[in-house]
Amino acid sequence: MGNVIMVTGMVLSSLPVGEFDRRIVLLTKERGKISAFAKGSRRMNSPLMGVTQPFAFGKFEMYEGRTSYDVRKADISHYFTEVTGDYDSVCYACYFAELADYYGRENLEASQMLNLLYVTLKALGKEAIPNELIRYIYELKLMSINGECPGLFECVKCGNSNKINYFSMQMFGMVCADCAHLVNDCVAISESCAYTLQYIVSARLEKMYTFTVSDSVLKELSYIVGRIRSRIIDKRMKSLELLDNTI
Ligand SMILES: [Zn+2]
Repeated sequence: MGNVIMVTGMVLSSLPVGEFDRRIVLLTKERGKISAFAKGSRRMNSPLMGVTQPFAFGKFEMYEGRTSYDVRKADISHYFTEVTGDYDSVCYACYFAELADYYGRENLEASQMLNLLYVTLKALGKEAIPNELIRYIYELKLMSINGECPGLFECVKCGNSNKINYFSMQMFGMVCADCAHLVNDCVAISESCAYTLQYIVSARLEKMYTFTVSDSVLKELSYIVGRIRSRIIDKRMKSLELLDNTI
């Protein structure tokens, strides 16, 4: 016999299965990434119809069977309609969900990743911060939460925390002015860019989307975070291709 469990989570993706059902992938606080069936959710008037939409966030009551979960009911607190109403934002949100799916594992507690995804979609729904900046913040923070962050607070060569004005992919981190000539692939970065990278990694999630940057810093972030991402994440993201063709 299975158990009935309650989890807090967000729908990352939702696929039709059979005639009336859906299979959803959820990122949950308690059990990490899990997939579940929502039986009958495509029938007219099914109470499960709305709760299986991508980005629906709330509490899900599920039956835990031997090999899969079945959604029984859900109490959705946020549908992120402010995101789903805008094509550009939807592209970003799909990409963010795909990245969370990439890192998510079953039975691996995921409260930080879930909270990050939540505050990120909230930020996408507001006009205050450009979507492109939200993307770089999310990518770097997500890699950092998963223990895959480059050395950003001191020179990776000598440990000095002053004058760290260079970045090296080869050394995977910041390099100081004194060591720059010892490393082949150093790229000079501005003080603002270095500070922004450090802020993203060290700030609490609720402070993550409280700033903007100049166009030149945005370009630097695009280059640095882009290179880190392509080294760390080896999977081709379908949504990223869509996004890169859109912007
Ligand atoms: Zn150094």
